[in-house]
Amino acid sequence: MKENSTIAAIATALSPAGISIIRISGPQALDVIDRIYRTKKEVESIKKGEFAAAASSSAKKLSNAPTHTIHYGYICDENEVLDEVMVSIMKGPRSFTAEDTVEINCHGGILVTRRVLDCVFKNGAAPAQPGEFTKRAFLNGRIDLSQAEAVMELISAKNRFAIDASLEQLSGKIKNRIQDLRSTLLDEIAYIEAALDDPEHISLEGYTEGLTERVQKIRAAVKKMADSFDNGKVLTEGIRTVIVGKPNAGKSSLLNALSGRQRAIVTEIAGTTRDTLEEQIMLGDLSLILVDTAGIRDTSDVVEKIGVEKAREAAAKADLLIYVADSSRNLDEDDHKIMELLKNKKSIILLNKSDLSSVIQPKDLKEAGVDAPVLWISAANEDGLDALEQTIRDMFEQGMIAGNDEVVITNARQKTCLLNACESLRLAEEGIENGMPEDMLTIDMMDAYTSLGEVIGEEIEEDLVNRIFAKFCMGK
Ligand code: GDP
Repeated sequence: MKENSTIAAIATALSPAGISIIRISGPQALDVIDRIYRTKKEVESIKKGEFAAAASSSAKKLSNAPTHTIHYGYICDENEVLDEVMVSIMKGPRSFTAEDTVEINCHGGILVTRRVLDCVFKNGAAPAQPGEFTKRAFLNGRIDLSQAEAVMELISAKNRFAIDASLEQLSGKIKNRIQDLRSTLLDEIAYIEAALDDPEHISLEGYTEGLTERVQKIRAAVKKMADSFDNGKVLTEGIRTVIVGKPNAGKSSLLNALSGRQRAIVTEIAGTTRDTLEEQIMLGDLSLILVDTAGIRDTSDVVEKIGVEKAREAAAKADLLIYVADSSRNLDEDDHKIMELLKNKKSIILLNKSDLSSVIQPKDLKEAGVDAPVLWISAANEDGLDALEQTIRDMFEQGMIAGNDEVVITNARQKTCLLNACESLRLAEEGIENGMPEDMLTIDMMDAYTSLGEVIGEEIEEDLVNRIFAKFCMGK
């Protein structure tokens, strides 16, 4: 799958900026830059009309420059000066793609950048496909597929945890863990196959007895990695936080207070928030996707009923439920129904309207059988919000953020591969239990080995590679 063409693209965002970077990679990268790069002296000669002098100074060719050097000069289309630039030369294999790579830092105007890029195309480079530089790094063995995906995730990271997870992945943590698991699996397969080939010298007598346990152990490790996706997703995409409560409890006021914007309609008429509203907010380092729901209560109003149904659905999909109760009113049947939604969910109870005289206390909620932190707030006065933020932070930071030796995956494709490996290992365990012949067991174990390989791109079809990299952004 090695590529022979030389590709180029703008690596920075195409908007007016101080500088733009045009990246060229491939066997002809240095030839391309030689054709269009001129030193200051050469440009002065051009300006004076001394074209021959400019063309003959081959000593200044960047292809002769040492690798990892940067050069001041001009990009010229024939005798027309397009821009004043800095050019970095990185000769393969010591570059991101492992190929000869040239980066032109030009001025960041859209038109200037486009003109320089066109000139690069005119002189031998082809337009790069989205993600093609990273794809080359992968195909040339510089990085594995999990690292390539980490590059993309790092670029689109929305918060510090997403950055941390991508950087860990980029450092090869997933690759190392997968390689360990694969090598353990391969040892087992190799032993069985060797014994089947040479039964006189290698015995399988009693071998399968310990095998179940060993396969189970591998499966548990793979499953743990697959399960880390849910935590990874919460941390990187945002904690899906659903605010529930009866009409008028103060849900919209809370959403507005937290988001600092008046997006939901705050009104005294019960049941006006009829649909769900979503808002992404940052709570320090954590992202929250706040969902405001229609007041949950039994109602005969058809329109409102739709909203209530939505609230129940939203609550089911939530990572965190925030139940807002109006502390100036007694708990009733509806409150108890809502509290049912909190069971088996990470949840926080807020006693709102702490500025009014209260008729309910935290103990009333504890007595109702809900095991969640109970906090006093006044959404209208923005009181108690710091404590709320801290509580959410504590709930999610403890146990959810991976410790040093934990691997968190954040990529759905990787999760699927891991789950496929789990299934193959489960089949192998079943086979051992049912006394299946050893050569059949190795088929399932080999399938698991292959699925694990797909995580890091070792056993992957070319068209899948193309599909994965097509999702990348241009110039990366
Ligand atoms: P929702 O139906 O649950 O979304 O409730 P709203 O946010 O629309 O609030 C209902 C009413 O309660 C509005 O009149 C708010 O101004 C009022 N309200 C909300 N929070 C507080 C609070 O902390 N204290 C007081 N006194 N009133 C509040």
